[in-house]
Amino acid sequence: MRPIFDTIVAHATGMAPAAVGIVRLSGPDSWRIAGEVCPSLPDPPIPRHAHYGMFVHGDDGIVLPYEHGKSFTGEQSAELSVHGSPRSIRSLIEACEARGARLAEPGEFTERAFLHGRIDLTQAEAVRETVEAQTERQLALANAVRSGALRDKVGLMREKLLSQLVAVEAVTDFSEEVGPLDRSAVRSSIQSVQEEVDRLLETASVGRLMRHGLRVAIVGPPNVGKSSLLNALLGSDRAIVSPVPGTTRDYVEERADFGGFPVVLIDTAGLRRTEDPIEEIGVQRSISQAAHADLVWYVIDSSVGWTQSDEESVYTFSAPVEVVANKSDLGNAGRGIAVSAITRSGLPELVASAQARFETNEELPAVNLRHRELLAESATALESAVSTLASDHPDDLVSVSLQEAVRSLGEITGETATPDVVSRIFREFCIGK
Ligand code: GDP
Repeated sequence: MRPIFDTIVAHATGMAPAAVGIVRLSGPDSWRIAGEVCPSLPDPPIPRHAHYGMFVHGDDGIVLPYEHGKSFTGEQSAELSVHGSPRSIRSLIEACEARGARLAEPGEFTERAFLHGRIDLTQAEAVRETVEAQTERQLALANAVRSGALRDKVGLMREKLLSQLVAVEAVTDFSEEVGPLDRSAVRSSIQSVQEEVDRLLETASVGRLMRHGLRVAIVGPPNVGKSSLLNALLGSDRAIVSPVPGTTRDYVEERADFGGFPVVLIDTAGLRRTEDPIEEIGVQRSISQAAHADLVWYVIDSSVGWTQSDEESVYTFSAPVEVVANKSDLGNAGRGIAVSAITRSGLPELVASAQARFETNEELPAVNLRHRELLAESATALESAVSTLASDHPDDLVSVSLQEAVRSLGEITGETATPDVVSRIFREFCIGK
């Protein structure tokens, strides 16, 4: 684990050059170092008060000090705002380092917030997701988790199991005093937690789409307008459009925002038999992209209609297939979603059909892959607790399973996460967060 008793420094704002850049200090020497790099800062400074001053590297700006217990990390800290030039920021960081601060590693500020109990592990993950959010819905999900929605939910489930664990262990340790275990009461209480675990698990598939984007492979024969469709949806000329079949020799991948939902559009080379070895590689890659997609848009040309070859191709995909009848301005294919990349008619319907994949009945915040694995572990443990209770196996076997479920849930929020797990999570952050 990284040391948490020293003072760290990092550039906390976006890419320079920018109008303003913020350098963040956290740790016991933050105020001293801030005072040394900005000599007009009063000693002690007024917490959460903006102090204007001249910095030792020649730029001027603001020092915003936070006292211990009232900062993001929970430590004494300070934010130093200067002009956002790469040189000004670099010089200020070097001035802090020369006075004893250590350059922060990725995620170290948030890791300290977690280690000081300011936030749990789900909130820490959500800090990163908030910073990285690109669409409105991604931000809404990150905000919900950051506010503690998942921590509270999982915390409550864990509490319920802990109280059952106490009941079971009391019986196994002091059976003479407390009498036999009320197995059916324990069982129904565990079953209610099982239902909650299942409901959270059901959010995992939408959680994955929300975090990584719905992967939509745009496939179909050459010249039906796949690249035109991609461009029409993105509003740019990212893919090459040409009237010669087979110009998209490889696939093009673009992130799109469908009404707040993140989508990854993959334009693939036209599916057709070809003698050209390079085009053949493109065709093979299309097939493999389509195999990994969450949704396949099988595009046809409305003026040509549905062909025998389409009939054969469409069954080769394992992902759900939506037929998209492009060039609706030239005819009516009589099947699929009618669109025209040229007139843009039908595009809202196409977008809506992709958005529908994000639909969920749950009000719960959608979980990520790490949560899903731990929820699945706790589901297995709870299942075995319930089957032990239904059998004539001894009570202490129930407590082993319950402990396992409690541990898995605790790893989601971080109470029972090992230092290794914790470091792995924070190393994926950016520097300064
Ligand atoms: P791809 O090979 O499937 O990617 O097809 P392209 O996007 O390169 O388009 C092939 C040709 O069809 C180009 O000449 C496009 O301008 C034309 N095209 C694409 N979409 C439409 C459409 O909706 N209507 C009409 N009339 N032409 C289209």
